[in-house]
Amino acid sequence: MSVRAHDGTPFDLNVSVAIVGGGACGLVAALAARDVGRDVMLFERDPAPGGSTAMSSGMIPACGTRLQRDAGIDDDTPERMAADIQARARGEADQDLLDLMCRASGPAIDWLTERHGVDLELVTGPLHPGHGRHRTHAPPSHDGKDLVAGLAAAARQAGVDIVCDARVTGLITDGGDGRRIAGFAVERPGGETESVGCAALILASSGFGGNPDMVRRHIPAVADGAYFGHGGNKGDAILWGAELGAELRHMGAWQGHGAIAVPHGALVSWALMSGGGILVNRDGRRFADEARGSSDLAPAVVAQPGGFAWAVYDAGLHESAMRFPDYRQLNELGAVRKGDDPAGLARACDIPAEDLSSALAETGLHEPYCAIRVTGGLLHTQGGLAVDDRTRVLDRAGRPFVNLFAGGGAACGVSGPAHWGYLSGNGLLSAVTLGRIAGREAARALSAQ
Ligand SMILES: Cc1cc2nc3c(=O)[nH]c(=O)nc-3n(C[C@H](O)[C@H](O)[C@H](O)COP(=O)(O)OP(=O)(O)OC[C@H]3O[C@@H](n4cnc5c(N)ncnc54)[C@H](O)[C@@H]3O)c2cc1C
Repeated sequence: MSVRAHDGTPFDLNVSVAIVGGGACGLVAALAARDVGRDVMLFERDPAPGGSTAMSSGMIPACGTRLQRDAGIDDDTPERMAADIQARARGEADQDLLDLMCRASGPAIDWLTERHGVDLELVTGPLHPGHGRHRTHAPPSHDGKDLVAGLAAAARQAGVDIVCDARVTGLITDGGDGRRIAGFAVERPGGETESVGCAALILASSGFGGNPDMVRRHIPAVADGAYFGHGGNKGDAILWGAELGAELRHMGAWQGHGAIAVPHGALVSWALMSGGGILVNRDGRRFADEARGSSDLAPAVVAQPGGFAWAVYDAGLHESAMRFPDYRQLNELGAVRKGDDPAGLARACDIPAEDLSSALAETGLHEPYCAIRVTGGLLHTQGGLAVDDRTRVLDRAGRPFVNLFAGGGAACGVSGPAHWGYLSGNGLLSAVTLGRIAGREAARALSAQ
């Protein structure tokens, strides 16, 4: 079942605001709906909340936050932030949606940190490519698992019911013109199914990176490449929406990453590139401007001979990366090759010394050097359901569904139509800002009914 009309059978369970998906979007939406005083139930298919959010570095861009002001940054504005994101998207992001997210970003971070005690810091150091100000906020560990843990603890504390091992398998309309959702079906691990009635439904089950058929259809360029996001993100919300007649936008948009350690399969932080590191291929040659950012460069890395490249940096960058558990683990696993000079690094990586020396001579890197073998891949998709300024899902005529909301990876993002439009942080920007708006609006819509 995907979408069906309600046949009048009483639901097994009823709730005011229901949420599908326990990543950043769902958890933030749940908190926001609880703030309005509604009973909220979140349904997550896995044994615990997490999703792609838990696999990420938890980096959320936001402007005008207290953390920025504390760091002396008092000239960041929604307009400046939107201009940075739009520049990366080559003017193809929906301007209204972008303005909405940027305006909502600072208040959302202040609300999470001050009202709900979620532990976030402002990330300083080299600016992330494309961001004109230090505006990335993350858990101190720079680990998305800690972001999920903080959000889930806050949600439980606020009285959100988080139901795990509960896969939503389809929506139930109220039987009228199909514009109102009456409930949905949930499958439990034993295979039994429950029906849940809801007054409002928020789709926070992310995009379709974990659905090979959808990837092949919408992003053929990466159909045979590696996917490094959450396997449970199978595009369910988008499929239900399409069946209901919702508008889908920018389905070819995705976030890639051009530095995934091989064979370890772990993300290497792009901060090594922003800090002055370079990418060279197995011939020791540079092949792209690293300032284009990790998403834009993902296909370029895969296109190199052998499908890989070396991320090359120096001992100073290595030391600062050692603060982070993921990098420390890569180091312990032997992924970080080292050389006292270009010739030593070339030997460690089995690449021609002469070309590597020339490449390094053009950088500001200092001996000794380090390198990690990397490839590129798909992290998550950025296209999805079109929503209005209250995050209500829109149909193909631009009319909102009455009580159906979406955010995060389930909704269309602000990265334009392809991978090159993704500015770092666009994923969690959408999850956090649209999640908060969705929770608030879904809860408020009930008062108006
Ligand atoms: C390795 C990696 C690194 C990244 N780094 C960053 C970063 O630093 N900054 C940034 O902004 N973005 C980053 N991203 C992207 C970011 O993680 C996503 O954009 C963001 O997490 C999306 O949040 P979400 O809540 O919409 O989805 P998710 O966090 O993926 O959560 C969706 C949840 O829905 C559940 N679900 C799916 N279908 C169903 C169903 N039918 N029933 C019940 N539950 C369901 C899933 O199990 C999942 O838990 C990264 C992504 C990856 C993979």
